[in-house]
Amino acid sequence: MAKTAIITGGSRGLGKAMAFKLGELGYNVVVNYRSEKSKVLADDVAEQIKSQYGVDTLVVRADVSKYEDCEALVKATVEKFGENIDCLVNNAGITNNCNWIDIEPAAYERVIATNLVSLLHMTHLVLPYMVNHSSKEEQCNVVSTSSVGGLTGVINQADYCAAKSGVIGLTRALALEYAGKGIRVNAIAPGMIMTDMLRGVNQDELNALAATIPQGYIGDPADIAGALGYILTATYLTGQVISPNGGFVLA
Ligand code: NAP
Repeated sequence: MAKTAIITGGSRGLGKAMAFKLGELGYNVVVNYRSEKSKVLADDVAEQIKSQYGVDTLVVRADVSKYEDCEALVKATVEKFGENIDCLVNNAGITNNCNWIDIEPAAYERVIATNLVSLLHMTHLVLPYMVNHSSKEEQCNVVSTSSVGGLTGVINQADYCAAKSGVIGLTRALALEYAGKGIRVNAIAPGMIMTDMLRGVNQDELNALAATIPQGYIGDPADIAGALGYILTATYLTGQVISPNGGFVLA
């Protein structure tokens, strides 16, 4: 029987690449997105996964920074695929780019709510289902997208770095709390990867950015999907942060 995975922010970028990886691994995939204009993108991701991998999909619009939207997302998942949720990928994220004096409180609250509080909501809602059916032989997984910003610091991204460090703290704590229940909890901390998050940056700046990366180039969403695939099959791995970053951060 196919397993069920939920991915938040699966309409584009890293989430889209990871949604395909979930389909490739045989999961039925729940593709979440937030903005009305992305419905067509999320629908397309879901259709392609279905036709390429023969699994089933569900598309759910929800703003995961809001608890009631997360509740609706989990309810829709259970109604369609039943109570055995096997995998949660917490990927939705946004950034600000502002110095800490000029930033508006509403802007940093949005970043914390989207990149960190959403994980508190989603794990709080999904773990009860996982606990009910996971075991050493039939593991469940929570994988969350942190960032190299959560491992180091980034100028003009204090809120983002705080949220992404928080993702790592949450990952370690939940990994310990649920290791004995057959639930593994890990994080991916990508370096610079070419998605819409970087598309606003002009070519000269991108070249300068690439020059700061030891491997010499900006990564591809497939690099992050590969890390997800590894985590989901690495049955003795929990509480860890995998950072595909081209050598940008060596820890
Ligand atoms: P992206 O291309 O901008 O995609 C962001 C995704 O998150 C979209 O699917 C978006 O949905 C969704 N999203 C945003 N806010 C949401 C909310 N409140 N509720 C539900 N979905 C929401 O970004 P990306 O580069 O793929 O980034 C994905 C994750 O990787 C983020 O957590 C980001 O911080 C992290 N990351 C990215 C990089 C990088 O270099 N790209 C590096 C390190 C970490 P809509 O399409 O509806 O807007």
